[in-house]
Amino acid sequence: MALAKTDPIIIVGAGVFGLSTALHLGRRGYTDVTIFDSQPYDKTLYSYFEGCDAASADMNKIIRAGYGKDTVYQDLTLESVAGWTAWNDELHAGKTVPPGMTKTDSVWVNNTAISMTDADTLPNFELDSIESMPAGTMLVSTDAKDCATAKAKGFNMEQFARQTPGKPNVFVLDTTGGFACADKACRFALHKARSYGVKTVFGPVAGKIVDLVYKPGTGDVTGITTADGKTHLAVLTVMACGGWTPTLVPSLDGLNETTAGSVALLKIPRSSPYWDKLAPENFPTFMHKLRDGEPGGLYGFPRHESGWFKIGYRGTKYTNPQVQKDGKERSVPVTRWTEGDKITSIPATALRVIQKFLDEYLPGLGASGIHISKTRICWYNDSFDNHLTIDHVPNAAGLMVATSGSGHAFKYLPSLGNWVVDIIEGVGLDRPAVKAWKWRSLGAAKPFNVIMAGSKGPRALQNVPLVPETSMHAKL
Ligand SMILES: Cc1cc2nc3c(=O)[nH]c(=O)nc-3n(C[C@H](O)[C@H](O)[C@H](O)COP(=O)(O)OP(=O)(O)OC[C@H]3O[C@@H](n4cnc5c(N)ncnc54)[C@H](O)[C@@H]3O)c2cc1C
Repeated sequence: MALAKTDPIIIVGAGVFGLSTALHLGRRGYTDVTIFDSQPYDKTLYSYFEGCDAASADMNKIIRAGYGKDTVYQDLTLESVAGWTAWNDELHAGKTVPPGMTKTDSVWVNNTAISMTDADTLPNFELDSIESMPAGTMLVSTDAKDCATAKAKGFNMEQFARQTPGKPNVFVLDTTGGFACADKACRFALHKARSYGVKTVFGPVAGKIVDLVYKPGTGDVTGITTADGKTHLAVLTVMACGGWTPTLVPSLDGLNETTAGSVALLKIPRSSPYWDKLAPENFPTFMHKLRDGEPGGLYGFPRHESGWFKIGYRGTKYTNPQVQKDGKERSVPVTRWTEGDKITSIPATALRVIQKFLDEYLPGLGASGIHISKTRICWYNDSFDNHLTIDHVPNAAGLMVATSGSGHAFKYLPSLGNWVVDIIEGVGLDRPAVKAWKWRSLGAAKPFNVIMAGSKGPRALQNVPLVPETSMHAKL
C-alpha cells in the first residue's frame, strides 16, 4: 500500500519503537502522524518512580555492540551509537533541548560495557564478537596487550577488585558501549518528533486504545477507538505497544509473548566511597554470565545521578498467562513494585542470584550497610527466535506491528524508526535485518525462546515463588 505523505498515520505506544517510528516519519516528511499512549508522559517524564511501566521508561539501558556472529544487530547498534553521539552533540550544543532538560544533560554515556564470566576463559559468543567487531574495539581482561591499551585509554580493568582475592577476572570490554539515559533519551526523541510536527494524545483515557476499527466485513483496519469512546481514523495504524502488543494483536500468538525481567535497586549515599567508585566515569556498564540461564543472566549499571545502583536479572524470564476475551491464554504485563518497605515483588530466584553476585563481586556494599531496597518486574515482548517483528499484519490491510524488542531494543532508539519507515514504504526489503523481522511462524525449527507454555508452564508467575514476606534490607 503506497502512503501519501499527508495520509493520517496512528502509532500506538510511545516507547522506543513508537517514538523512533514517529520521529523518522516526521523527519521524512509525513505530515499527519499521531502517537497515542495510555501513559501521561508529559507529566511522568518516563520515570518509573512516577508509575510508568513501559520497558522504555527507565533510568538506564545497556548499549553494547558485540552480538557474537550476528552482525545484523552489531551493525544496527554501531549505526545507533553514531545516532546517540549525534543526539548528545545536538543536546550539548543547545540545538535540541526538551522542556525540563538542559545542555548539561546527556542521552547516552560511553563508559564502556563489559561482559563477564566466572570461568577461566571467555565463552564462544564473546570470542565471536571479538572477531566480528571492528578491530581494536574489544579488549580482553586476560590479554596483557589489551590491558596496557585499556590503561593507556584510562579504562579500569579491575572494577570489581576480583584479582585481589585471587578470583578469575575474565571479561571482554566493548569500548563502543555504555548506557542510554533512558528516560531522558525518550524525552529527547519525543521532543524531536514533535519538532517534526508529530502530534501526541497521552493519558489513561484519551490516549488508551481499547479497540481497533475494522472496515465492515473485512479484517482491514481503519483506525482505533480510545477509552473515551472516540474513534480515530487512519490509513495506517502501527501497533508499538511493547508487552501489551500480543494481547492487542492476538494474531501474534505463537510468534510473540510477553515476559518479565527482574530488577533490584540499591541506594548509594552521597557520603559513601561507593558514590565515586560506582560513578560512570569510574565504572562500566556490566553483564555477568548473560547467556547462562537461571544462575546467570545479570547486568548492571554505574550509579545513577539520583544515587540508585541498578542490577537486573533475566536468567529466567517469567510470564503471566491470563485467559483473554476469546477464551485463549496470553501473558499480560502485571507491573509489580516494591510495596512500602517490602521487597516482595520479584521472584525469589531472581533476588537470590542478584544477592549472590553482590556478595561475591561487591561485598563492600553490604558490609557498609547498603542493601537492595527496591525491586520491580518489567515487561519485555519476546519472539520465538529473538528477532524483532516489524511488518504488516497478514490479512489486515492498514495494520502494522513494530515490536518484539525483547531485552535489547532500547539501544536502537535513534535509528530503528528509519528502518520501520523503509518497511512502510517497501524500500530495501531484501536486507537481512528486514527479512529477519518479517511476520513468521516457527514451523519445525527449534525456538530460541520457548513461548506460550501457558499457566501450567514453569515460568508462569502463578507457579513461581516470590520473595517471601521480608522487611527491607533483609539478606537472603
Ligand atoms: C527489564 C528490562 C531490561 C532491559 N534492558 C535493556 C538494555 O539494557 N538495553 C537495551 O537496549 N534494551 C533493554 N531492554 C529492552 C528494551 O527496553 C525494549 O526492547 C524496548 O524498550 C521496548 O520498547 P517498546 O516501544 O516495544 O515497548 P514499551 O517501552 O513497553 O512501550 C510500549 C508503550 O505502549 C503503551 N501502551 C500499551 N498498551 C496501550 C494501550 N492499550 N493504549 C495506548 N498505549 C498503550 C505503553 O504505555 C508504553 O508506553 C530491556 C527491557 C526490559 C523489560
